Amino acid sequence: MKTLRILVTNDDGVLAPGLHCLVCELAKVGKVFVAAPDQERSATGHAITMFQPLRAKPAVVPGAEAAYAISGTPADCVKLAIDGLFRREIDLIVSGINRGANLGTDVLYSGTVSAALEGVMLGLPAIALSLAEFINPDFELVAKLSRHLIQALRERSWPADTLLNVNFPPLKLTEVRGIKVTTLGRLHYDNPILERKDPWGGTYYWLAGQIPEDNNGEHTDVWAVKNGYVSVTPIHFDLTNYRLLDTIKAWDLQLPLDRGEIEDVDGDNNKGGE
Ligand code: MN
Repeated sequence: MKTLRILVTNDDGVLAPGLHCLVCELAKVGKVFVAAPDQERSATGHAITMFQPLRAKPAVVPGAEAAYAISGTPADCVKLAIDGLFRREIDLIVSGINRGANLGTDVLYSGTVSAALEGVMLGLPAIALSLAEFINPDFELVAKLSRHLIQALRERSWPADTLLNVNFPPLKLTEVRGIKVTTLGRLHYDNPILERKDPWGGTYYWLAGQIPEDNNGEHTDVWAVKNGYVSVTPIHFDLTNYRLLDTIKAWDLQLPLDRGEIEDVDGDNNKGGE
């Protein structure tokens, strides 16, 4: 089999232990290249940098053929790596291992998932890996499991517009109940705004909150990870709600295409300003 050339990225930064453990394991199955943010960029979603230059500095990541610390977002890293630094000689993009889960609606905030999605947008297969544990994550175990999963996936193929979002439960190997293929669940947070005082009496806020017990069904990623399974969700970026297309077409929405009609739609209401 041809040598697999893997781009590893993340949103926790090029120094993150999750990335280092992953690179060590993936170096056993292919050549690994790294392009990751030079600092923590979690929860930056799919942002890219357009009004500043990007810098790519060589970084030390044991096991990698080459590694760069990039002064941008996770999506920047993938764009720059594929179309610039590594010139498209990549077979697979792997993003992670993230410190903390990326489940349900949270994938929209996730730099980890967005990096994988950027890969998919560039036409490359991509996998996002997250471990649902912040305080004491066992990245060595999850990196080994990830290597096995990626080896199994080498013999499979899936549509080029889709990434696989993988979340691992924070469990010992003997406690993991297996793999579940899931849909995205819904996450909403109780008490999402923490209000505090700084030493000078000013008010500041933390976006945080707790995830309440919810009714995410057994088919969801949220349920699977909470119940001890590794969750695998295929994700693509077409956000169109196809079920609503006919309804909205039937509304027959029209806009005035004549400048005279735009200028005086409904008399006095339009003069406003005071
Ligand atoms: Mn992160």
